[in-house]
Amino acid sequence: MIIRILVVNDDGVLAPGLWVLVEELAKVGEVIVVAPDREQSGVGTGVTLHHPVRASKMVHVPLPVEAYSVQGTPGDCVILGLQALAHGPVDIVVSGINEGANLGSDVLVSGTVGAALQGHFHEVPSIAVSTSAIHEPIFEPAAKLAAALAEELAAGHMPADLFLNVNLPNRPIDEIKGIAVTRLAHRRPTGFLEHQKDARGRAYYWLRYGKPEWVVEEGTDLWALRNGIASITPLQADLACRPQVAAIERLCPDLYRKLAS
Ligand code: MN
Repeated sequence: MIIRILVVNDDGVLAPGLWVLVEELAKVGEVIVVAPDREQSGVGTGVTLHHPVRASKMVHVPLPVEAYSVQGTPGDCVILGLQALAHGPVDIVVSGINEGANLGSDVLVSGTVGAALQGHFHEVPSIAVSTSAIHEPIFEPAAKLAAALAEELAAGHMPADLFLNVNLPNRPIDEIKGIAVTRLAHRRPTGFLEHQKDARGRAYYWLRYGKPEWVVEEGTDLWALRNGIASITPLQADLACRPQVAAIERLCPDLYRKLAS
């Protein structure tokens, strides 16, 4: 069986990490690329609802695969890919390779993970892949691990509702110490706003990340990367917080009374 692979990213269709990933995935299946026409990092699983979304088939493609450049979000790309451009069933969605790790609660903001989440919404096994460096990223190990995961899926060794967040330490393959299945690390909020004035003297704001204040607990995605280990975190779309159920439930009669008053 030839597996059909939809490749997407959030760094844009010209990002080098996408094409290193495509090169490896094309060895294990039939690849179609549907990716944003520009960088869309940080848009999560956002979708475009207020204007049409256009996809252009790329003429000059770095590798001999069908590729589309989309005026939209990574989530849009997955929807277009699965529902229109792939012309048939897709076996797996692979998103990346992102330049920079997507760890802990960042999975809720990441366009790379957002695209995989959109694939998961469509009940297609989906994997987000990132390497931990923004400067001089090394993509080959991440691409090879993604291809190996796709092969295991094709061999029937993976759960059908697969939704993985994969992060690799930015180092050559022979310096990666292993692969760990991890949970999400916890980070304290550190984003800040830069206040600036534009050329006309009007205020604008630039959202920035501060130096992350991570809690490095053993068994987390961050812990793995800090130790030179590739991290695979199984995710799910269900964000429900069960420990808080009882505390909120106790308030429900009061809340209902206030509704009615
Ligand atoms: Mn990105």
